[in-house]
Amino acid sequence: MSRSREELKKAAVAAIDRHRDEIIAYGEEVFAAPELGYKEVKSAAKFQAFLDSIGFEHKDNVAITGVLSTQKGRSSKLKVAVMGELDAVLVPGHPFADALTGAAHACGHCCMQAALTGVAWAIKEANLMEDLDGDIELMAVPAEEYVELEYRNKLIKEGKISFLGGKQEFVKLGVMDDVDIMVMQHTLSTHNKKYKAHAASSANGFVGKLVRYIGKEAHAGGAPFDGINALNAAEIGLTAIHAQRETFRDEDHIRVHPIITKGGDLVNIVPADVRIETYVRGANVDAILDASKKVNRALEAGAYAVGAQVEIDELPGYLPMNINEELATVMYNNLCDLIGADQVENIAQGSGGSTDAGDIAHLMPTVHAYIGGASGGAHCPDFTIEDKEMAYVTAAKALICTVIDLLADGAEKGLSIKNNFTPKMTKEQYLRDWGHLNAD
Ligand SMILES: [Zn+2]
Ligand SMILES: [Zn+2]
Repeated sequence: MSRSREELKKAAVAAIDRHRDEIIAYGEEVFAAPELGYKEVKSAAKFQAFLDSIGFEHKDNVAITGVLSTQKGRSSKLKVAVMGELDAVLVPGHPFADALTGAAHACGHCCMQAALTGVAWAIKEANLMEDLDGDIELMAVPAEEYVELEYRNKLIKEGKISFLGGKQEFVKLGVMDDVDIMVMQHTLSTHNKKYKAHAASSANGFVGKLVRYIGKEAHAGGAPFDGINALNAAEIGLTAIHAQRETFRDEDHIRVHPIITKGGDLVNIVPADVRIETYVRGANVDAILDASKKVNRALEAGAYAVGAQVEIDELPGYLPMNINEELATVMYNNLCDLIGADQVENIAQGSGGSTDAGDIAHLMPTVHAYIGGASGGAHCPDFTIEDKEMAYVTAAKALICTVIDLLADGAEKGLSIKNNFTPKMTKEQYLRDWGHLNAD
């Protein structure tokens, strides 16, 4: 006689509550030991050691630092991936920043890792797989933050990765081939916000650019007339980008936010090597590609004006979020049960940020919930985990209760969501149409 969904959820939540202190401690330890994407060596080792300690087998070094652990159901009608991100972001001024690298968990991905351990405790101690008709794959995924473009571009050129984002790389490597549904959550800073959680929200997609202006060195005091000033070219390029902004439509949510990563070599030499990184974000692929063309034209105008050269490396960024309402509603109902319906919004308007979960959502039903507990600004020095119960423990409960709904009772709900889903593209189209930017 199988247990009902409610009995399974009760047992899962009880198991998580029994390990509450360990789950919080895990999250706090990761918070204090941040690592940047594709370099999450300690975080991956920590997750591997955790899985060993509870007797879960795992596959390591997937897309450099990723860790996978599959738990088989009593039958395998469906496979649900539960993802947690391993990486931190670069905020050198953060009180918990790594002194050497400047990395800090100012996006709260430590909470995702802690929540994965909570999900694992629930699976193990509540013997969930005995009553589920599908498999669960725990996935610790590298490199969600799209940063250190030059470093990662080098990894691409060395053949170590094909994409800058870890989930994109999972698609490329075939990790997602037998996965039917992806479930994850991200910590939310709830300061001044009406809701403590939302089941889903829109997110912009984007392309990335690495820009190099090449001028000609000359003595900056003695012979500037013999030089070609690449910094002047870059300044004109940036100004020309600003001149495009009035052409962006409100509904497309275009954001272009370049930084200069190198402004010259020595102050008494005319700058001959100036570098810029930028994203071009937008709410849909056509708008992104259109804005991207205008940005390239603007960058080229800067080079033309002073007779410099410009090289633009295009990098595939992330796709906009494709919200699956049927799946979001499963997460929504569980969040309502856990924290009260008045605290939860089902589908929220996104902030204009991006995630490579958007890429996964083009291929399979995906839910990317936001659950509170953080305060301060995301990617800012004041970001911290204030409500540890919410950020670490409730997050784990929301994930596993959603998975139980998908896989209990013959995986009826999960199969319905799978069957009602039309992918926006196949894996082959994705690698060809989005991944092609790598090859250019
Ligand atoms: Zn972030
Ligand atoms: Zn994040």
